[in-house]
Amino acid sequence: MAFENYEVWFVTGAQLLYGGDAVIAVDAHSNEMVAGLNASGKLPVKVVYKGTVNSSKEVETVFKAANNDDKCIGVITWMHTFSPAKMWIHGLQQFNKPLLHLHTQFNKEIPWDTMDMDFMNLNQSAHGDREFGHICTRMRIRRKVVVGYWKDEKTLERIAVWMRVCAGWADAHDMLIIRFGDQMNNVAVTDGDKVEAEQRLGYHVDYCPVNDLMEYYKKVTDEEAKALVDTYFKEYEHDPKLEDNRTVEYEKIWNAAKAEIALRRILKDKGAKGFTTNFDDLGLFDQIPGLASQRLMAEGYGFGAEGDWKSAALYRTVWFMTQGMTNGCSFLEDYTLHFDGERSAILQAHMLEVCPLIAEHRPKLEVHRLAIGVDSQTARIVFTSKQGPGVTATIVDLGNRFRLIVNDVECIKSKPLPKLPVASALWIPMPNFEVGAGAWILAGGTHHSCFSFDLTPEYWEDYAEIAGIEMVHIDKNTTISCFKKELRMNEVYYMLNKALC
Ligand code: MN
Repeated sequence: MAFENYEVWFVTGAQLLYGGDAVIAVDAHSNEMVAGLNASGKLPVKVVYKGTVNSSKEVETVFKAANNDDKCIGVITWMHTFSPAKMWIHGLQQFNKPLLHLHTQFNKEIPWDTMDMDFMNLNQSAHGDREFGHICTRMRIRRKVVVGYWKDEKTLERIAVWMRVCAGWADAHDMLIIRFGDQMNNVAVTDGDKVEAEQRLGYHVDYCPVNDLMEYYKKVTDEEAKALVDTYFKEYEHDPKLEDNRTVEYEKIWNAAKAEIALRRILKDKGAKGFTTNFDDLGLFDQIPGLASQRLMAEGYGFGAEGDWKSAALYRTVWFMTQGMTNGCSFLEDYTLHFDGERSAILQAHMLEVCPLIAEHRPKLEVHRLAIGVDSQTARIVFTSKQGPGVTATIVDLGNRFRLIVNDVECIKSKPLPKLPVASALWIPMPNFEVGAGAWILAGGTHHSCFSFDLTPEYWEDYAEIAGIEMVHIDKNTTISCFKKELRMNEVYYMLNKALC
């Protein structure tokens, strides 16, 4: 029920040429289709039928209503009959939410023996949807076109993907990211234009002095800390010695719990959906609040390390889009390389901040020295990731535009690191390490990315389409020479197409 407050509207295009009986039949077909879509159990967001539009005025009215309704996160259009597309111009000019054009037909197979003109009048999507497609293309309206019979699983799956992206898009437009401390000094790739990000991607980024967070930290009560420490011991594997409250390890777990409570509380008070930290600016914390970041990510808070607010926002969107899916997602960093011929791979980890949603086993609570930021014994949960295919993504600011870089990856078995106990994944970027990493670097991609076992590239394609940003996708078919051509072509496209820059 993650998306229960959202709706997607369904609008049928027609015209009055075919008489009153046809209008009634079109309406009945549309009602039946929408009921069928909702009853399929395949769609994560409720579809609401908003009637058949037969004139420019009606189109404008329904799109204006869609713009103004907070529950509506997107509109599906379908041309039941030939709906002359000039009547869509004014409505489309004003519409500012995601659009899906469904090319389907109420009737499945041609009734060869009985088909007559009455049947034809009620099954005109074949040409009606082309008329509508033309006006969208002519007006440069960004949209997803889904083609297929409305009861087919594949059709429903493609609509479902788009719905989840619409939900993520709506969520991003009511998203505040809090930066505790600034960007890590001198780092280029994780920085960018926050004003442009708000215009283009929806979310807002604020700074919060670490001192404000420390006020929350100081006010955490012993009872609250104790309750959370007990939760840690209950949820995670651990050495029983950690439960001895006379040790420095216990004290570190205690303070990590206080940090988590303080962070969650300040984020809640500010209405924030994500945050960044910076190990150079940790106030009174006696250790990096890494365990807190791990656990808050699993709850759905966006997180980016070293002030990386773009990753914090993108991770939140990944988590939000994949609600109810079970394979997990995480903020990750390209940590170190493993050369092994065709099996060459990249270890994905961070100082501490990897999300336990991708863990293959119950995570283990451990305390070890970490010398970065504060040189201190530091609490964390340790695990290796599941195996299998996934997709990772990042957004970089190229100065005149944002570029979304997406890479299909294959997670293989990672190993524990006894001398560097952090959570990790190990992956081979597609099509292989050499081309995958090479293309990523040519595209200007970050060392931080937002990984998911549940998303497919189609989600990111829909996201980039809705946002109107560039996307480059590195997959099993990528070659460096073609990829370089694509980057050069995109450079020209976005230079000429100022509206998208
Ligand atoms: Mn990092």
